[in-house]
Amino acid sequence: MSRSETLFANAQNRIPGGVNSPVRAFRSVGGTPLFFKHAEGAYVTDEDDKRYVDYVGSWGPMILGHSHPEVLEAVRNQLQHGLSYGAPTAMETEMAELVCSLVPSMEMMRMVSSGTEATMSAIRLARGYTGRDSIIKFEGCYHGHSDSLLVKAGSGALTQGVPSSAGVPAAFAKHTLTLPFNDLGAVEQMLAEVGSEVACIIVEPVAGNMNCVPPAPGYLQGLREQCDKHGVVLIFDEVMTGFRVALGGAQAHYGVTPDLTTFGKIIGGGMPVGCFGGKRAIMECIAPLGPVYQAGTLSGNPLAMAAGLTTLKLIKRAGFHEELTAYTTRMLQGLKERAAAAGIPFVTTQVGGMFGLYFSEADDIVTFDDVMASDADRFKRFFHLMLTGGVYLAPSAFEAGFTSIAHGEKELQLTLEAAERAFAQLKSV
Ligand code: PMP
Repeated sequence: MSRSETLFANAQNRIPGGVNSPVRAFRSVGGTPLFFKHAEGAYVTDEDDKRYVDYVGSWGPMILGHSHPEVLEAVRNQLQHGLSYGAPTAMETEMAELVCSLVPSMEMMRMVSSGTEATMSAIRLARGYTGRDSIIKFEGCYHGHSDSLLVKAGSGALTQGVPSSAGVPAAFAKHTLTLPFNDLGAVEQMLAEVGSEVACIIVEPVAGNMNCVPPAPGYLQGLREQCDKHGVVLIFDEVMTGFRVALGGAQAHYGVTPDLTTFGKIIGGGMPVGCFGGKRAIMECIAPLGPVYQAGTLSGNPLAMAAGLTTLKLIKRAGFHEELTAYTTRMLQGLKERAAAAGIPFVTTQVGGMFGLYFSEADDIVTFDDVMASDADRFKRFFHLMLTGGVYLAPSAFEAGFTSIAHGEKELQLTLEAAERAFAQLKSV
């Protein structure tokens, strides 16, 4: 038995499914999740001392690579001054100034401790600001696990929300209207009917929780126009895309300005952090200035601020995102060439340092149905073959992949060699 297998068996006695977050359990790819004990640069090391080129990056935060010396140093420095005060610090204002300067739609912001908290709070704020109850989200988009957001569509576009988790009362879910992603007509139609009851539209500007699906041309702009027309707050959930697809996030990349934005992942540099912010007039509705309550014992935690601030300062150097994007493009191009050589239908998507892999005959991936039509069984086998070849991909066909600035020539070669062997074996089975 490997150490990961032993640890996983033990973990299951006391931790549901042996994991503290479900996708880690390898349910959709099968097999035993790897238990990690170390991570450095582009690599993670498991409990059996095997090293992998990492394309998960802790699900997005590790854009600098793991254990970046300057980030660790900043955290070590802060450690000497205590872990948490529950009182304001100078670093929090520095963080707010920096984020607002990098993302101009952010006029004010508040730190929280996870992406879930950020989206949950942004939605409460949108409801408080507009005095409306309904929200619109899109099928296949994930915004954390708060009650209002754990809802998927019924069969028709206008069907009221049906909870996608036990424990979410139907009475909550009915305020969550779910529409297909990348279908502007569906939004126009719904807002024409119930626009005056809708507080906000929340969207992942690049969908990253159903694999990786970029917005169709004009889609985000269309959402902006529809929100303006109906007095609806537009929320970009940039927990994944923020500081990754461009320094200014997807809103800079696509040139569309939301009213509110949520961040997480990179803004904490690997520490538990989230953030929401946007238009001053909306943000001033938050307590203690306004009537919308929101709070957090560890919000703006000094260690998290040290890691996040240092990360943001390092990624804002000229050329950072171009390099990250270039590596990602070359890696995907290499994969496509090898798949084609093996005669395997294979499609990739990419926005900056974020990507999707599909075993699919489609020309492009635009909708949730395109994603669902891809061959998840083939992905499963590919995932395990890549693991054997020393490459750690997201353990699900429905998660985006992430690169870091620590991925270079050596990692590219390792990845492509592993892929060449994997595609050849996929072909032979
Ligand atoms: N929004 C998006 C777009 C996400 O990808 C995630 C998590 N992957 C969340 C919100 C929730 O963030 P957290 O897991 O930090 O609560």
